Amino acid sequence: MTALGHNGRTAPDLTRLGLSQVPMILMYHGVADVATDPYHLCVTPARFAAQMATLQRLGLRGVGISTLVDAMRAGRQRGLVGITFDDGYVNVLEAALPELKRHGFTASVYIISGRLGGTNEWDEGPAWPLLSASGVGELAAAGMEIGSHSASHVRLAGLAAGQLETEVSGSRASLSELTGTPVRGFAYPYGSMDAAARRAVHDAGYGYACAVQTSMADLGLMALPRVYIGQQDGAARMTAKRFLYRGYVALKGIRP
Ligand SMILES: [Zn+2]
Repeated sequence: MTALGHNGRTAPDLTRLGLSQVPMILMYHGVADVATDPYHLCVTPARFAAQMATLQRLGLRGVGISTLVDAMRAGRQRGLVGITFDDGYVNVLEAALPELKRHGFTASVYIISGRLGGTNEWDEGPAWPLLSASGVGELAAAGMEIGSHSASHVRLAGLAAGQLETEVSGSRASLSELTGTPVRGFAYPYGSMDAAARRAVHDAGYGYACAVQTSMADLGLMALPRVYIGQQDGAARMTAKRFLYRGYVALKGIRP
């Protein structure tokens, strides 16, 4: 482990990660047995349980991203895999949390600060309930990391400065107040970001941000790539994603 946070440079929003330093981070949305799922956002509870069991069999421990970043700084990230949930669905508390706890895993859950207790109305598919303030508190109390997924779930790339401020800094302030602890993590809605968005996230005081696909030049703490995990990911596919992860990041980074 070199260079990360020990190089004495400023501008940590530009902190670069080499491909070999990129940690594996899984991206989930919901864990539920739903009738229609046009955007393939949910895995069933049974599938999720099998996926967590596969991670364990591979000798991996699932952790939230703040834990992962701290481990990277200390050079202890070996054997860790990041687990993330975007949007903050109620079913994460109901179905994912018990399974995570069974394995001694944690995860990061990215909440839309202006939609507590609402639904995913930004999608045109079925409406699923989002966690209320008390549900967010339950997740935090269970050891899950609470991060921000913006204030209203808009694409940040190209957003005007004032709106960017509300979506990034404003949501951090309200979630920090809600959880009683400074929020460290952000996840870009739709994975949409540009240099201004990454700078806004850094300047708002976040320590890291999760993207989806990241160009090789942008790999770093403000644009951590993630791999989508869905219902089709059985043990063989999970194992392949584990061992091919960096090749996958590189491929997406070259042709995002
Ligand atoms: Zn989202």
